[in-house]
Amino acid sequence: MSDCIRCQKCGKDVPEDEVFATEGKTFCEDCYIDVNNRIRVCDPWGERSKKIYRESHGLEGTDGLTDQQKEIYEYIQSQGKATMADIGKRFNLSEAELNNQFAILRHCQLLKGKKEGDSVYIVPW
Ligand SMILES: [Zn+2]
Repeated sequence: MSDCIRCQKCGKDVPEDEVFATEGKTFCEDCYIDVNNRIRVCDPWGERSKKIYRESHGLEGTDGLTDQQKEIYEYIQSQGKATMADIGKRFNLSEAELNNQFAILRHCQLLKGKKEGDSVYIVPW
C-alpha cells in the first residue's frame, strides 16, 4: 500500500508514485497535462519545469512527443524554417492547436520563433 496524495486541482487521491508535481503543486496525470497545456508560449518557468520533467524521465530530443509534434519538428528541420501559417496549412491545424503544439515543442527546446524582417519564422532551436 503506497500513500496517496491529493491532486490540488480535482481533489482525486493519487498514489504517491503517480503524482506529478509542478511549481510546488501536486496533480494527477490528467490535471498535470491540462495545466501544462495552458502554459503560455513565453514562459521561462514552464520551459524550465518541462525540461526538468523530461530529464527526470530520461526523455531526450523528440522522445515523449506525439507523432504530430514529431512530424512538425521534422518538417521544420527539413525546411530550415516555416511560418505558423505554412505549418497550419500543411498539418491542417487551427491557430489555437498550432500554438499549443508549438508551445510544447518550444518547451522541449526543439523549435523556436525567429523574426526576419516583418515575418516570424519557426526554426530549429
Ligand atoms: Zn487531478
